[in-house]
Amino acid sequence: MITESIRKHALRNALDHGKADPKAVVGRVIAEFPEAKKDMKGTMGEIVKIVGEVNALSKEELEAEISKYSFAEKKKEERGLELEGAEMGEVVTRFPPEPSGYPHIGHAKAAYLDWSAARKYGGKFLLRFDDTNPEAESQEYVEAIKEALLWLGIDWDKESYSSDRIQELYGYAERMIGSGSAYVCNCKPDEIKHNRSSGKGCVCRDLGKEEQLARWKGMLGGSTGKGESVVRFRGDMASDNTAMRDPTLLRIIETPHYRQGTKYRVWPSYDFGAPILDSLEGVTHAMRTKEYELRDELYFAIIEALGLRRPRLVEFSRLSIRGMPVSKRLLKPLIQKKVVSGWDDPRLPTISALRRRGITKEAIKNFVLGFGLGKTESNPTVEALLVENKKILDPVSERYFFVSSPVKLAVNSAPKTKAKLKKHPEKDLGFREIETNGEFFISGKDASNLEVGSSFRLKDLYNVRITWKGPELEGVFDGTEVKPGPKIQWVVAEPGMLEASVLVPGELVDGEGNPIENSLRIDKGYCERECANLPEGQVIQFERYGFCKLDSKKEMRFIYTNP
Ligand code: ATP
Ligand code: MG
Repeated sequence: MITESIRKHALRNALDHGKADPKAVVGRVIAEFPEAKKDMKGTMGEIVKIVGEVNALSKEELEAEISKYSFAEKKKEERGLELEGAEMGEVVTRFPPEPSGYPHIGHAKAAYLDWSAARKYGGKFLLRFDDTNPEAESQEYVEAIKEALLWLGIDWDKESYSSDRIQELYGYAERMIGSGSAYVCNCKPDEIKHNRSSGKGCVCRDLGKEEQLARWKGMLGGSTGKGESVVRFRGDMASDNTAMRDPTLLRIIETPHYRQGTKYRVWPSYDFGAPILDSLEGVTHAMRTKEYELRDELYFAIIEALGLRRPRLVEFSRLSIRGMPVSKRLLKPLIQKKVVSGWDDPRLPTISALRRRGITKEAIKNFVLGFGLGKTESNPTVEALLVENKKILDPVSERYFFVSSPVKLAVNSAPKTKAKLKKHPEKDLGFREIETNGEFFISGKDASNLEVGSSFRLKDLYNVRITWKGPELEGVFDGTEVKPGPKIQWVVAEPGMLEASVLVPGELVDGEGNPIENSLRIDKGYCERECANLPEGQVIQFERYGFCKLDSKKEMRFIYTNP
């Protein structure tokens, strides 16, 4: 059987690449037959032999033979990740975050797409910090981005910083100025804006090369001040594509840079740096969100002006979630103005907030990769993510009781019994044992549905019939036999009860991006005493309430994760 597997994968590899390579075959064979690892020498010997036979076949023979074999179904996340012109082992992708804030679920989408595509094609995945705007960036954000990626299970083959290559980028800028494909513009920002919208060129555009290069030296050397000069691409001021109306390639920013200090005062724009670095770093498939589509023409115009290798551009839709600002530009002011408690406030779509809230990386991955490389705009609600998360939490989370806005219930003539409650309805996660004394708290919501004469069951304990309803409830013991009807969660009323609170995140912003008031609700009540043994960070299910993560053990504060 193992020889069949070797043959099958050798055939596939030969068809994909012209010749099969034992190194490419071995991984696939071991994935199917893990025991082949025990005798690697024997396995490799067999693979080399079969690869030799397969490489002697013609293309027609390969095709005829491979049709006899079936290949395992591709995983869901691999579907929708087909790249045009991708060759096994040759794909290079990159994720280029600007370290100007904490990463959010939109970044997870971009990073998972880049990373999965590279892994699918056995290629390389690069992490490039696109840090060419000293005013917005910091080392704290670099660390936050790396930490989030590692938590998501995304590893990178190489890490780079655009700001480490400024000198080289200056060289390319000078070449473009020298060849006339860029020029130095000294017009006021207002004038530039006006000319761009009316489609007119300015006098700077027509100055000779000597003057242009002198102006460029002035920018680098410090004789021109901030906002006095910019390098612009010589595009077409009358182009229908406004991105081609002589966009800015480099500008003066004198704020010290978190990594380069005061070494540079001229900084490349994204439009200028991205195509050059993609080309230099060997990127084959440069992925970016759809809103950059208009800038594709500029991307290739710069590549062409410099005679560089052309990467392919692949666009995908930008993720937005109703009620959540999925953009650093929108997130940053909320944090600075203290509308939220920080980057990990549970209402936010940042990776640190989702993680703190108990959203698993598997759920994030399934959710974002579910959109694939499609360009259709998606504006899902957070529910779709929570549904994915529930699939993961439900089978493994212990069950406990929590009563919110508690109301006291005294049960007359009740037996003192010990309840033995399963921690999970199906899985064997053990039990908790609770001594009862006839006095309980139930949730305010359950209490409000009970009237004198109502019968119900205290879950996994016994039945009760209500005999009196005031601010508190009184009832009588009504047997132990399980009957149809409501089953209500309870906590024993006793000294030393465990007070607990749950932060319940709601939609933070409205359609216009304005903060919604009271978007974070706090439910207060009691949880059963067994919860005192939970480790901080654990996700559990409070029955008939929801999945919650223990956020602070000291304060017994939970965060509401999921319905
Ligand atoms: P932001 O508004 O969050 O600052 P950005 O695009 O300026 O967005 P970058 O750090 O420059 O943020 O983005 C790095 C990569 O992540 C880019 O390829 C970008 O297209 C992608 N990205 C950013 N936000 C989203 C999103 N909401 N959905 C999908 N991809 C995104
Ligand atoms: Mg950006």
